[in-house]
Amino acid sequence: MESLIESKLLKADKAFQEWKNVPFEKKQKLIARAAEILKTKSEFFGEIITTEMNKPISQAIAEVEKCALMMNYYAEAENILLPEKIESEYGISEIHYVPKGVILGVMPWNFPFWQVLRFAIPAILAGNTVVLKHASICFGSGNAIEEVFIEAGFPKGVFQNLEVGHRDVKEILEHTVIKGVSLTGSEEAGAEVASIAGKNIKKSLLELGGSDAFIVLNDADLDEAAKVGALARLQNCGQTCVAAKRFIIQKDIESDFLPKFVEEYKKYVPADPKLKETKLGGMAKSDLADDLEKQYQKALAHGAVVILPLERISDNEFNPGLIRVEEENPILQEELFGPLGMVMIAENDDKALEIANNVPFGLANSVWTTNKERQQFYINGLESGTVNINRMTSSDPRFPFGGTKSSGYGTELSLLALREFVTAKTILAK
Ligand code: NAP
Repeated sequence: MESLIESKLLKADKAFQEWKNVPFEKKQKLIARAAEILKTKSEFFGEIITTEMNKPISQAIAEVEKCALMMNYYAEAENILLPEKIESEYGISEIHYVPKGVILGVMPWNFPFWQVLRFAIPAILAGNTVVLKHASICFGSGNAIEEVFIEAGFPKGVFQNLEVGHRDVKEILEHTVIKGVSLTGSEEAGAEVASIAGKNIKKSLLELGGSDAFIVLNDADLDEAAKVGALARLQNCGQTCVAAKRFIIQKDIESDFLPKFVEEYKKYVPADPKLKETKLGGMAKSDLADDLEKQYQKALAHGAVVILPLERISDNEFNPGLIRVEEENPILQEELFGPLGMVMIAENDDKALEIANNVPFGLANSVWTTNKERQQFYINGLESGTVNINRMTSSDPRFPFGGTKSSGYGTELSLLALREFVTAKTILAK
């Protein structure tokens, strides 16, 4: 292992020995200070994001502000890690929540600040220290986040950015000081990293891909659903795990809803991501645009019908596409990570639910209906970590976030995230 990386891991371990004993409330004060820095310099950090991965600047600034919001949530959160006394016949019977140590974060480029901090803040508040392996195009974001921790006054070594490629992950994860890993990214990366963690008996948490459904039923507010649906697919140029990727429309409103949806969709035209009014930038990398084009061709070859063509207008930019697909199209088993949406038609609730669940993923589905009984039907039946009614998916720090099926395991956000990288230690005395 390169000596610089080795020394950073040892530094993280040394920092852990002291950090674990820092009172929860003191840790919260430092987190509040870091949140303030993010808020004050959100434009500066937003520009780093836009430069690195082409996110439109207003969305990049909003991402940084959302990080500050999440951090303030944890800065004021109830301490659920205090020792718990359990009534029993023993003289002492307690549960202590003990932080595990140095945790590795392997993070993607699509939300370069949010994904990192969403994982790191609760892990650090629980008493762990963190080393980050960021996506290779986001080292600037990784370094900027490390600077925020230093400026806020965190002890050195509590959060460190490692500028390494994915080939180095195995060796780092196998290092004895690393006690767990949290990965947000593709299924391939998740499976690889979780198997290394498993072989080394280390805890892993996976936040992977999705192909969420956006179900529009015949008693929904169609204007609102059309407007929000376009945003849910095309925000961040469609490169969002919880983006609406499949629009399942009840048959009897197809002719009312589709024209409205297409009209809203057409409002997203690629433009310079550095301009504040830009809603759609280019994709983060041209090879991802190549992949999306291949998936588009595959869908068409299997009978998909074009509603709006996916038109490549530069190395990484598209006029967004919309295709109608039938149930047997194999493209449905893949995640479309870019500005291409799929429309499906369902006769009734049973069919809509069956189609919605018939994918390998399960992150955050959205259902549009004003009928309470129908809402309950989908709440009970949808296989996903989140169900949204009459709203698009966007995570909220107060509530758990995570997937089912191939979308991963483990919980981020909410108080529950504080217990992801701790050991529940039982203390019993006669
Ligand atoms: P990715 O290619 O899997 O990369 C994610 C991270 O994993 C990067 O740091 C990458 O490093 C690393 N990595 C890639 N292959 C690896 C391997 N074999 N071993 C170890 N590390 C490896 O994913 P991405 O393209 O950046 O992000 C898009 C994917 O993330 C989509 O599938 C999306 O749905 C998912 N995602 C999920 C969530 C969620 O919360 N569920 C949120 C956001 C994104 P390099 O950059 O060096 O290759």
